[in-house]
Amino acid sequence: MSSPLIGVLALQGDVREHRAMLERAGARSLAVRRPREVEQVDALVMPGGESTTMTRLARTFDLLEPVAGRLREGLPAFGTCAGMILLADRIEAGVAGQETFGGLDVVVRRNAFGRQVDSFEADLDVVGLDRPFHAMFIRAPCVEKVGDGVEVVATVASGNRVGRIVAVRQAHLLATSFHPEITGDSRFHELFVDMVDGGRASADRSTTS
Ligand code: GLN
Repeated sequence: MSSPLIGVLALQGDVREHRAMLERAGARSLAVRRPREVEQVDALVMPGGESTTMTRLARTFDLLEPVAGRLREGLPAFGTCAGMILLADRIEAGVAGQETFGGLDVVVRRNAFGRQVDSFEADLDVVGLDRPFHAMFIRAPCVEKVGDGVEVVATVASGNRVGRIVAVRQAHLLATSFHPEITGDSRFHELFVDMVDGGRASADRSTTS
C-alpha cells in the first residue's frame, strides 16, 4: 500500500507545520483549497485559526458542502483547535448561525480557557501514547459533552477544574483542543496516519474478499 495522501485545509493557520508533521509521520501531504483537491485526498487535517473566518472562507471557496459530504462518507479527519470546532456537531459560545462541517458527536465550547492571555502549555497523558505529550493551548476550545461513540483521549486540569476534555476520537475522526503541529513532536500525526492506514487496509480487504 502506498503512503496515504493527506490534505491540509489551507484557508488559514499552520498549514506548513501540519504538512511537515504528516510527512515526518510517513504520509504525503497536499494543501487543500479547491473542491477537486477535496476529492483527491485519503484524509484531511483542519488546522487552528479562527473558526468563524475559516467557515466563511470555506463557503467562499465552495468547500463547505464537498468537505461535509466526504466526512459523511467516512473521510478520516484530524481537527486541531479551530479545526476541532469545525468538526463538531454542536458549538457553545459560537457566533450566531456559526456553521461547521460536523461529523464529530460532541459539544465544543469556543475560547473555553479565556482569551489570548490565557494561552498555556501542559504535559498531557494521552491514551495510546507511552510518554506525556507537551501541548500548547492558544485561545483553545474544549469538549463539554461527548456522544456514545466518542472516546476521550486526553484531559487537562485548568484553574480549579480537572478533567476538561481536550482530545477525542470517534471512529475515523480525531480532534485536539491544542496545537500538536508546533511542538516538534509528531506522535499525534503518527496516530492519525495509523488511523488512516487502518481504514485503507480494511477497505482493501473488503474489495479483495
Ligand atoms: N478561538 C479560536 C476559534 O474560536 C480557535 C483558536 C485556535 O485555533 N488557536 O476559532
